[in-house]
Amino acid sequence: MGTYRIAAIPGDGIGKEVIAAGCRALEQLANQKSDLKIEFETFPWGSDMYLETGEMMPADALETLRGFDAIYFGSAGDPRVPDHVSLWKLRLAICQGLDQYANIRPTKLLPGLASPLKTGTPATIDWFIVRENSEGEYSGAGGRVHQALSNEVGLDVSVITREGAERIQRFALEIARSRPRKKLTFVTKSNAQRHAMVLWDEVFEVVSTDYPDVQTDRVLVDAMAARFVTDPESIDTVVATNLHADVLSDLAAALSGSLGLAPTGNINPERNAPSMFEPIHGSAFDIMGHGSANPLGAIWSASLMLDHLGETDAASALFDAIERVTGEGSQLPRDLGGQAGTDEVTQAVCDAI
Ligand code: NAD
Ligand code: MN
Repeated sequence: MGTYRIAAIPGDGIGKEVIAAGCRALEQLANQKSDLKIEFETFPWGSDMYLETGEMMPADALETLRGFDAIYFGSAGDPRVPDHVSLWKLRLAICQGLDQYANIRPTKLLPGLASPLKTGTPATIDWFIVRENSEGEYSGAGGRVHQALSNEVGLDVSVITREGAERIQRFALEIARSRPRKKLTFVTKSNAQRHAMVLWDEVFEVVSTDYPDVQTDRVLVDAMAARFVTDPESIDTVVATNLHADVLSDLAAALSGSLGLAPTGNINPERNAPSMFEPIHGSAFDIMGHGSANPLGAIWSASLMLDHLGETDAASALFDAIERVTGEGSQLPRDLGGQAGTDEVTQAVCDAI
């Protein structure tokens, strides 16, 4: 029931291809719903800009973005630019600058699709991974000392703060509470990482007592990776630190069919700045320009964006359209075993809408 201004940042590689597809699906949806209006402004930020100007985005980019209701992001990463530069100067700069500290990653086995799990493919996969998105292993703290000498040192310091741990854990507990199974798996590695991870655990012990209705269990991250494969139906909501959840959610995406399918949202829960929605995959150098990228991850991310904006009916309509395309099965992209290109899959979603 509203008009929304969306900042689209296609970025690099197939990010440009899938964000164009997602905008098409959103426009189709808005055409069908007279009470929904979506206005896009597209920003040409990314590695092309970096190669011209030395910056991935302008100095006042965060201020510009604050004027929008949400951000729709493609990917940062280009073979001509070091990955840590493209990532930190664009995507991470936005996530940290706008305090999008909660990264949400729903995973579902969609109709018509098979999990690559060869034995005992589960009847359902319906997981919700919550990733700490502002500190932990990707805090950016660290440095390089004695550069180019034989005693050179490189340090990445994993930073967990009491406040940072508490806010993401509460966020995850609230999500677990809102889902039918009311179940949260807490992921840690405090057996080996004995400072920050122990704090991470201690905070959870306290915070989780405020949620007696949520059933919790605590699992070490390596065992959790195995459990995704061996006991997928035991999992519902998961909370983990930045690096751990990054890795686990790519595994989750692959187990549900393909990386090209998986959506995410970088959420600012306090809503004092816009949140950002993107497929979890990267620039996919191996297929960029081929017209074969799977747009469903980007389109599902657009559904998460609508949901965040409070447009729950529109969000469901878009997600239903994705499920109809996978269920019907004739217009599947190549990474899901089909023959359809980005355009054809997008058209199929638009038709389903
Ligand atoms: P990637 O996700 O780009 O690709 C991994 C594999 O999955 C490739 O074989 C690719 O073809 C396939 N794939 C990914 N998305 C697909 C889609 N929509 N349809 C079909 N196949 C798809 O990961 P990578 O190769 O590790 O990274 C490539 C670049 O992307 C790097 O520069 C990396 O830093 C960047 N990256 C950016 C983000 C981001 O901006 N959020 C995330 C991950 C990687
Ligand atoms: Mn990742």
